[in-house]
Amino acid sequence: MTDFTGVRADFPLLSTAEGRTLTYLDSAATAQKPEVVLEALRHFYRYDNANVYRGVYGLAARATAAFEAARETVAAFIGADADEVIFTRGTTDAVNTVAWAWARAALGPGDEILTSEAEHHSNLVPWQEAARAAGARLRFVELAADGSVQTEAVLGALGPRTRLVALAQASNVLGNLPLDVGAVSRAAHRLGAIVLVDGAQSVPHLPVDVHAMEADFVAFSGHKMMGPTGIGVLYGRREMLAAMAPFQFGGEMISHVEAESATFKEAPQKFEGGTPPIAQAIGLARACEYLSGLGMAEVAAHDRRLGELAASQLGEVPGVTVYGPGGARLGVVSFNLEGVHPHDVATALDQQGICVRAGHHCCQPLMRRLGVVATVRASFYAYNSEEDVEKLVASVMSTMEFFHHVAH
Ligand code: PMP
Repeated sequence: MTDFTGVRADFPLLSTAEGRTLTYLDSAATAQKPEVVLEALRHFYRYDNANVYRGVYGLAARATAAFEAARETVAAFIGADADEVIFTRGTTDAVNTVAWAWARAALGPGDEILTSEAEHHSNLVPWQEAARAAGARLRFVELAADGSVQTEAVLGALGPRTRLVALAQASNVLGNLPLDVGAVSRAAHRLGAIVLVDGAQSVPHLPVDVHAMEADFVAFSGHKMMGPTGIGVLYGRREMLAAMAPFQFGGEMISHVEAESATFKEAPQKFEGGTPPIAQAIGLARACEYLSGLGMAEVAAHDRRLGELAASQLGEVPGVTVYGPGGARLGVVSFNLEGVHPHDVATALDQQGICVRAGHHCCQPLMRRLGVVATVRASFYAYNSEEDVEKLVASVMSTMEFFHHVAH
């Protein structure tokens, strides 16, 4: 069993004078970075910095080797092969890569993209635009009463015209248990459809094996899993990537260029035009190693335990509504205080050193379905503890008292 009590000390920001008093509960937006990741970035720039692929000198060869080794590490972390891992700027960029390189070419009138109203805008708006461009249409999985996407509903919504299923494995708002991607993929494939998984909230918090879950594409962001910003991944099944044409053109992705035409490298390089995020990839690989050191099954259990504790304790505070499932859940808890605007709650909690997010969480259709304009969201990660949950619950109670005292 991993002992999580010492984990916080690995994160310099949380150990500074200001950081020591912080209760950071916004990891679903972005995670803090451990010293080993900061050190990997510094080490690359300090000792190995050069552009990749083109240099013949030793330093450039070292940079290229470090970059490709990072790809191997990240691939292993998700159960993929290295040539199936495309480095992108993040989840948004990864989803857009499929929307441009696959959807616009593969979809036509009458074809359907199955998605949901609970998606993050990053996994919804690219499909709205691609559907419009291709003459295809969106269909939406019926949401459960708590707003969540349930596997059974997805299986029931698949139809003969479904060509793409684009869904998050884990919600950034509700904390419901993950989608059974394996079941969805197998059912989709039987109908000739493919599956894109938004893994922005699952890859950082759950053991994910892309081959075992048989998805065609999985998108995720480095910064939500203790890695740097500016780096993310599009995993693509090898046959899918081979069949897709690049959509961004420039250096690094070509194999031969004439004045009037060019040929391109194989995947993943054909989707990585221009100088890639080299240091960021190396930092992300170090984050994967750090998470593997903790053990992803243990990270998942830890985050879940804190999420369940927070949800059940907040649910007992009079006037607090907790969204999402009762009982078993992941480490994301959205809630509201009766009669108090979520932004006021977040501001009041900030005064007590608690960082939570308030807003629509890039999920405006879901907010509409929940009948609210915004929620407060607390999200947990490996550096959080039961003490953070206690502090959150106590501060929510005192915030409630304060506002109701003011109101009367
Ligand atoms: N999907 C989900 C479920 C998310 O939580 C996020 C980040 N909030 C994204 C997509 C977008 O990620 P990024 O901004 O890193 O591209």
